[in-house]
Amino acid sequence: MRDHTFAKELISFIDSSPSPFHVVHNLKNTLKDNGFIDLDPKSRWELKKNGRYFTVVNDSALIAFVIGEENVEEQGFKMIAAHTDSPGFKIKPFPDMRVKDYIKLNTESYGGPILYTWLDRPLSIAGRVLLRSQNPLNPTKKLIDFKEPIVIIPSLSIHMNRTVNEGVKFNKQKDTLPLLGRLSEEFGEKNRIFRLIAQNIDVKIEEILDFDLFLYTVEKGLITGMNKEFISSPKLDDLAMVHAGLEALIHAKPSSGINVLVCYDNEEIGSATKQGADSPMLSHVLERILLSLGKGREDYFRALSNSYMISADMAHALHPNYEEKQDPTHHPLINGGPVIKINADQKYATDADTSAVYQEICRKAGVPVQKFVNRSDELGGSTIGPISATQLGIRCIDVGNPMLSMHSVRELGGTLDHEYIIKSFEAFYCL
Ligand SMILES: [Zn+2]
Repeated sequence: MRDHTFAKELISFIDSSPSPFHVVHNLKNTLKDNGFIDLDPKSRWELKKNGRYFTVVNDSALIAFVIGEENVEEQGFKMIAAHTDSPGFKIKPFPDMRVKDYIKLNTESYGGPILYTWLDRPLSIAGRVLLRSQNPLNPTKKLIDFKEPIVIIPSLSIHMNRTVNEGVKFNKQKDTLPLLGRLSEEFGEKNRIFRLIAQNIDVKIEEILDFDLFLYTVEKGLITGMNKEFISSPKLDDLAMVHAGLEALIHAKPSSGINVLVCYDNEEIGSATKQGADSPMLSHVLERILLSLGKGREDYFRALSNSYMISADMAHALHPNYEEKQDPTHHPLINGGPVIKINADQKYATDADTSAVYQEICRKAGVPVQKFVNRSDELGGSTIGPISATQLGIRCIDVGNPMLSMHSVRELGGTLDHEYIIKSFEAFYCL
């Protein structure tokens, strides 16, 4: 029997990454442990051949890269892109709501979660807190993770909604607000969330300026299926691809060009933020790498022309209860290998050229490949590929591992697929 090392590592990576800020924090630690140097975007960069570096954008996005031996203008950038965010709920600035002696929290949804999957689960809260400092332009930032289950969104009893099993329409301002507890002396009448934060990170309430806090399920990921073939875990979309990209970048032998891993934030809300794919964040970093190596703009554009990006975001597998939802001739299965995502309207960046390249990479790595196309009468999603490709004007493919329950609080992927895609990414970086 396989030992599923990669799947287990993925599960523990996800379990310790309850918010995009924690994802980046964990990426930083692993990169540092593997000899990568943290570059301050505000300082002048002095990069060297064979160097390993990373830089962080707004605490929730990260670009890591390894500089090869040969001239980048001829060998180009080999890039893998993924995203750090997942759909869920964000806590509003003044969230306290009192109903009799109950306290509930006012939240808004982030991205497109499957709402009913969040009900009746022990949930916790994680994110970042901004604290007063000497310099108003640079508040102190702290990560926060309550770890313990402290909130829950209770469903309405079937006795009060007899038609519940015929389908429920959820109102995000009414049906999905989490219960925090009952009024108590300790947490007083007002600012309970501020009190909880202050207690958790050991600061005074007056020091707290603001926060970005998200709900998350405390139920850990696990391996399941009669042959241990499935991974059941929160946030597989897209932390599975972040983890796979990280593994490949760290372990790939130095390549001829520059290997890059970009982990964007905000894919789930359209990528149009300064740390999202629809921003100059990646192009700025790539150009700075060239400038620091003593190259010019002409070299930068030559490098882009020689570059290739794998946009890695999870893909839909055929659902055994809804076979009719898949295209009649393309139906990826879990553990059938990475999925190339194709769309005639270019909601995915893939074209025959970039697909041909990735298929050859997989063939050489001994990895099977599948293809996904939407049914012609169904609108599909999009991802970071077309946005990055448009920003940079580079060759790009959209791929991802096949999964079920996308955007549920708990998603289902394949143990074998995780190994496959890491192998394909390593083979790509070694080209
Ligand atoms: Zn995604």
